[in-house]
Amino acid sequence: MNNRIHINDQPSKGLFQWKGSGAGDPLEEVFKRALSRPRIFRNREVMRSDYVPEKLPHRDEHIRSLGEILSPALRCSRPSNVFIYGKTGTGKTAVVKYVFKRFEEITAREKLPLRFEYINCRIAGTEYRVLAELCGAIGVRVPFTGLSKAEVFNRLRRGLSEKGYLLVACFDEIDALVKNCGDNLLYELTRMNEGFDGFGLSIIGVSNDLHFKDYLDPRVLSSLSEEELVFHPYTAIELIDILSERASEAFYEGAVPQEVINLCAALAAAEHGDARRAIDLLRVAAEVAERNGDERVEEKHVRLAQNIIERGRIFEALSTLPLHSKLILTSLILLKRGGVGEPISGTVYQAYRELCGLIGVEPLTNRRVSSLISELDMLGVLKSDLVNRGRYGRTRKISLLTPVEEVEEVIENDELLSTLLNHRLRIDLNRSRR
Ligand code: ADP
Ligand code: MG
Repeated sequence: MNNRIHINDQPSKGLFQWKGSGAGDPLEEVFKRALSRPRIFRNREVMRSDYVPEKLPHRDEHIRSLGEILSPALRCSRPSNVFIYGKTGTGKTAVVKYVFKRFEEITAREKLPLRFEYINCRIAGTEYRVLAELCGAIGVRVPFTGLSKAEVFNRLRRGLSEKGYLLVACFDEIDALVKNCGDNLLYELTRMNEGFDGFGLSIIGVSNDLHFKDYLDPRVLSSLSEEELVFHPYTAIELIDILSERASEAFYEGAVPQEVINLCAALAAAEHGDARRAIDLLRVAAEVAERNGDERVEEKHVRLAQNIIERGRIFEALSTLPLHSKLILTSLILLKRGGVGEPISGTVYQAYRELCGLIGVEPLTNRRVSSLISELDMLGVLKSDLVNRGRYGRTRKISLLTPVEEVEEVIENDELLSTLLNHRLRIDLNRSRR
């Protein structure tokens, strides 16, 4: 542990003693409790997932390799494009940001004609935004909207050539760009250097999706992956080092015992060696301990954190489902309230149609709804079992696997669907109860 920890004995900024404001103050108790809480977090920022630490244990190799690949830029020649892949939480983003920061320091010091731009394609969203960010990186202004993509592309090309810059661009979560918009832009960008009299563009593509390569046109793939770097999942031992490093900055000494770090590391390693998962677990566990007014983080807080994170994940997964899948889930909630916990698929379809009518959307066919139900089954949200109903033939019985309150929470947060939760189904439920 590093010695900076010892400053924890002095009160940190913002912590002071509550002196009391006399009887009858409704906030008296609140202030007193908030200010007398044991101090667990010394620096909360450090536990945020977009924080890039000074040290990245167990990634020296990758940092060196990426640095090596980009090093020709420092001698004014264009580095190869790089393709980086590995599962989530293996440090890809952190390594690229770290290497960019170090290269930017030298660039500024030596006044080199280099620019480094990190773009998260999932957040940027559209090809236009990606191009606009690239232009921004070399000081070419483009409006938020209004120009054609071709025009923005030309401005980028012209800008690079006139200013004589080399632009090294990282396209993080590049799979999101290709899934939304195809690989046209990448094709154009990778070809931009051909016959180009300027310095040019090097691309670092980063993907969490290991099958991403299958989506790419072979020509794009071959120019993108002139070099490749693979990030492997962390082992439990490696995660312990990563967490210990973070914990020593983020928490007061003694607030997070070694066993707790080991447990978070082991749980995250058992999943798929995801450092983000390990850091989130420790952060949420510490927040739980803090809220409880406990002095240190313990195993029970980690267990609670696991549940909280799991719920958060379910919420996120369900929130992003398409409208009709959410309508099916809403039907299941209302049927359950009507006493039908395991409706047959025909009843679900009837309820679903009724709800579509209420919000004025065209219902999908029975067949489409069945396939959405199968998808939800595969996601583990519900269970759909084939049953034999004698002379009525075979049908499916459907029941929610996710706790109903969790599904309700998602529907409540959906602007269009939330009012449906107050609805009482008009369809005949007696048939289904039989
Ligand atoms: P990826 O981009 O591969 O999904 P990230 O780089 O975003 O993963 O890493 C996830 C989290 O774990 C981030 O908070 C990051 O700072 C942290 N992290 C990943 N690898 C390391 C490492 N070797 N040392 C310290 N922190 C790390
Ligand atoms: Mg990432």
